[in-house]
Amino acid sequence: MSNEATYGFDTLQIHAGARPDPATGSRQVPIYQTTAYVFRDADHAAALFNLQEVGYIYSRLTNPTVAALQERVATLEGGAGAVCCSSGHAAQLMALFPLMTPGKNIVVSTRLYGGTVTQFSQTIKRFGWSAKFVDFDDADAVAAAIDDDTRAVFCEAVANPGGHITDLDAISAVSDAAGIPLIVDNTTATPYLCRPIEHGATLVVHSTTKYLTGNGTVMGGCVVDSGKFDWTANDKFPSLSEPEPAYHGLKFAETFGPLAFTFHGIAIGLRDLGMTMNPQAAHYTLMGIETLSLRMERHVENAVKIATWLENDPRVDYVTYAGLPSSPYNKLVPKICPKGAGALFTVAVKGGYDACIKLVDNLEIFSHVANLGDARSLIIHSASTTHRQLTAEQQEAAGAGPGIVRLSIGIEDADDLIADLDQALSKAAS
Ligand SMILES: *Cc1c(COP(=O)(O)O)cnc(C)c1O
Repeated sequence: MSNEATYGFDTLQIHAGARPDPATGSRQVPIYQTTAYVFRDADHAAALFNLQEVGYIYSRLTNPTVAALQERVATLEGGAGAVCCSSGHAAQLMALFPLMTPGKNIVVSTRLYGGTVTQFSQTIKRFGWSAKFVDFDDADAVAAAIDDDTRAVFCEAVANPGGHITDLDAISAVSDAAGIPLIVDNTTATPYLCRPIEHGATLVVHSTTKYLTGNGTVMGGCVVDSGKFDWTANDKFPSLSEPEPAYHGLKFAETFGPLAFTFHGIAIGLRDLGMTMNPQAAHYTLMGIETLSLRMERHVENAVKIATWLENDPRVDYVTYAGLPSSPYNKLVPKICPKGAGALFTVAVKGGYDACIKLVDNLEIFSHVANLGDARSLIIHSASTTHRQLTAEQQEAAGAGPGIVRLSIGIEDADDLIADLDQALSKAAS
């Protein structure tokens, strides 16, 4: 689009990345269900393989439907480029991969999605990488944890499961001073509520499985690059700054400038790790994003109503929603997520573990599932599910103790959701 810089979010969520199909005029982005693309001639093929010309070779690397989604998410986040992949977890590995080598570490928040805690505390060790978990409310502690081998700082803007907000400006000041990128998982806020790049994030990762798709249909992930990090400023990122042997000594930072990380993600990351998004998934997610702002407004409106009702209910100990004035994170809402604190929070139920189990089993509209960011309301008892593999200390640090349930508030009628919680809480208390 010619006027992309001046269009508002509601226009861009429908139009960014989507042009009428050049072959047919198809107004909606076609699902390019193909694995390969015919080369014009042998010279064209050679130019594509040498990265001298941008185009389509093979769908493990690029696909036009996926490319439309990449451009749309990059635009909504205010980034230079994006790489979509098969899941949010794949996106996290794709974000770290160009930065890391054996022996290097990342400094990460204790308040993360349970699967991410496991990925970072266990699985990445197999690559020779490690993670140091720190309380990100304390920017000095983050600074103190960074050492010469640290290659990135990682947090969630609005943290799963508690909905705690990270002061991204304070954390990016620390990562900037150390000359390393800040990676922000923006899954639970979405670019409608929070734009991490405006707060100094280098990379933004998403599980597009959640709000971006918005209806619990397909898995996906995305890595957005701000294009603002200078990979050549120090010698910490040779994959991007030094000659790449697999491409005849090409230097990504020198050749692609602000798109260096994105091109590396496609040309090396997807080529060799193969965590590719399929065009069907990209199609569903493109459809979902068209209504993102409308859904997020209703998600937030419902979450405020329901969290307020729960907080005043005698069967509830406390509610962690940052949209409530009682939350210590409430003061960060105007700065970090001015359109609202999302729709994800935890509730401590009186009666502990047993009451939580009864609550979950007696709800009728809320579904008990390991997902969030669906149009329908969801609940999960994190301690017995998503955070089950964690130690008791890790569960507490993540805000997922045994007496706590996580709610993902949907876009149904708020009064119906409150009535459902009311009847199930009565059963939980009996
Ligand atoms: C779900 C989720 C992930 C992982 O994404 P998948 O698409 O399930 O792989 C990462 N971060 C957050 C905050 C999530 O909610």
